Amino acid sequence: MSARPDTDVATGLPSPSDDVVHVDDLRMRYGTVDVLHGVSFRARRGEVLVVLGPNGAGKTTIIEILEGFRMRSAGTIEVLGQDPATADEAWRARIGVVLQSWRDHGKWRVRELLQHLGSFYAPYSTAARSRPLDTDDVVEMVRLREHADQRIATLSGGQRRRLDVAIGIIGRPELLFLDEPTAGFDPQARRDFHDLVHRLSDLEGTTILLTTHDLDEAEKLADRILILAGGRIVANGSADQLAREVSSRAEVRWMRGGSNFIHATDDAAGFVRNLLAHDDGEVTELEVRRASLEDTYMTLVQRHETGRRDETLAGFGGPTR
Ligand code: ADP
Repeated sequence: MSARPDTDVATGLPSPSDDVVHVDDLRMRYGTVDVLHGVSFRARRGEVLVVLGPNGAGKTTIIEILEGFRMRSAGTIEVLGQDPATADEAWRARIGVVLQSWRDHGKWRVRELLQHLGSFYAPYSTAARSRPLDTDDVVEMVRLREHADQRIATLSGGQRRRLDVAIGIIGRPELLFLDEPTAGFDPQARRDFHDLVHRLSDLEGTTILLTTHDLDEAEKLADRILILAGGRIVANGSADQLAREVSSRAEVRWMRGGSNFIHATDDAAGFVRNLLAHDDGEVTELEVRRASLEDTYMTLVQRHETGRRDETLAGFGGPTR
């Protein structure tokens, strides 16, 4: 008997390496303009993937294609085992989407709307994954308990955004798309949201694809970061891996006798070993810092921009070959 494709042959358990999203050579052309030039990446079960990139890079286009809202020009895509362009309602029920703020149904109350939307998912409940989530649990998860009986039109911007997140997760999705979910959140709401993302990915095995312009948030949330520039993926890895790709240099900081010291080095471990070997017990506050995600992001995007400028210059004024 052969194992189900989503099952590890040795253990019979869901394989941790299963691709929930599989994108190969995705291309998109609007009219005569190519905006995606062969994008390929994967997302595994329970992985939090953060897509970064300047405005116009193609993030929303990719997400809309994966959600089945937009038809691609070319490329192979599998999302939860199906092609989003032809996937059915049962597939849609396994996906959660947090788009722009929910502006309709202003007269509905929070709990009432979630209950109503949740009821659409009930027919897609399975033995392994009951649907929808309990309405009150979701209200609690997004910290809207005090506002559960309030009309939607009377919620603040941040509360509405939390309701958007609640709408995205009420159907207990296996894959959740979030387009700039924390825009308009105060620091507490942002922290609550980060906890929720960790909870969904760790406890529910939800795969999360998220766009944000907040690099600090990306660093906190991402198992993996994709940086998109000009319709191409220019980086794909953990924040640490990307930092190493840009520079092997680290900054070592420490205090001795009340003074601060900083030293930049390619061999942080060797430097620290040497520092401590000659220390008479006075070194405190020792810290090793790699490039921040912001440094990495700026370097990679600028590298892409410079490459593009060079190509253009070569095209106009460079030697003909
Ligand atoms: P991002 O989400 O990274 O800001 P988008 O995916 O929205 O980028 O846009 C990528 C490029 O595609 C931009 O140059 C944008 O102007 C163009 N674009 C997006 N949607 C359309 C559309 N419906 N028709 C024509 N061009 C579009």
